[in-house]
Amino acid sequence: MSDQCVFCKIINKEIQSDIRYEDDQVVVIRDINPQTPSHLLILPKVHISGMDTLTPEQSPIIAHIALVAKKLASQEGLSESGWRLVVNCGQDAKQTVFHLHVHILGGRPMTGQLA
Ligand code: 5GP
Ligand code: ZN
Repeated sequence: MSDQCVFCKIINKEIQSDIRYEDDQVVVIRDINPQTPSHLLILPKVHISGMDTLTPEQSPIIAHIALVAKKLASQEGLSESGWRLVVNCGQDAKQTVFHLHVHILGGRPMTGQLA
């Protein structure tokens, strides 16, 4: 838990959000400013500021997030049409919230551009 972190506050239910899934390791919410018809954020419950500070001890969370992404993509009805995972890290990637999160994007064809 980091005091000023908006995602920690969402995880602790101090800030309201549209929670789609929760287990002992992650919370999945709908993005407040969706970029695609389905736009979810997978938040690890432990505060990790980003991929650049991930430690070997913390790294099993990434495998768990991958499996949660698959489950939630299916729940969103995206399995057949396809979906994309995005993690922004740092300034050039335009990371705006410094609590590690993985975007699940889907519900329309992507543009074909990654960046
Ligand atoms: P980033 O650019 O850091 O990868 O993405 C942060 C994402 O968090 C953005 O897509 C933004 O819309 C979303 N976001 C920021 N604050 C909130 C919030 O309070 N609630 C929800 N549901 N999403 C948020
Ligand atoms: Zn946090």
